[in-house]
Amino acid sequence: MTAIYVPIDRWVVAARVFSLTAENLRRAGRDGKESGILWLGRRDKTAQITATAFPSGTGVEECPGHWRISPEVFGTVTRWAAPRDLCLLGVAHIHLRGVPARLSRTDRNCGVQIPGILEVIIGDGGDQLDYRKWSWYVCENGDYHQMSKAEIGKRLTVDHSIDFESCTVNAESVLFSTEAQ
Ligand SMILES: [Zn+2]
Repeated sequence: MTAIYVPIDRWVVAARVFSLTAENLRRAGRDGKESGILWLGRRDKTAQITATAFPSGTGVEECPGHWRISPEVFGTVTRWAAPRDLCLLGVAHIHLRGVPARLSRTDRNCGVQIPGILEVIIGDGGDQLDYRKWSWYVCENGDYHQMSKAEIGKRLTVDHSIDFESCTVNAESVLFSTEAQ
């Protein structure tokens, strides 16, 4: 069976998604390792990104040249997300200082190729805090397309009042979880 994905025109992102992404990822960046985080929310023509799932520990590879999570980690995220009516909408990961903040060949091949999913690369080991300076890609028509600054401005809105929740997970369980606030 082929899943039907609602096409996404725009994203509304809870402001906490950006700040928590940077907080979580720069710790690894300072240790000289890549790290990443999953963004979740409600899929619609205007999608709402309202949650983060940070993989940490078993099933997570944080290395100088790559970041990878096992299918079991995705499984834990899905078990946390499904009862909350959240689905995967984006994956953000850092590149270390001196490495271009661009989707690498590995990123392209190993990315989650769901139509409309965002792949975001944060440069300078996560110390780049301005989301407009991150590299934004969206999976459309079977490939990743890099969004220009103008396109980001047009398709992305940051919301400071929207409910937000987060969790930290590994391959086996949810280690930490907040309620919507
Ligand atoms: Zn990468």
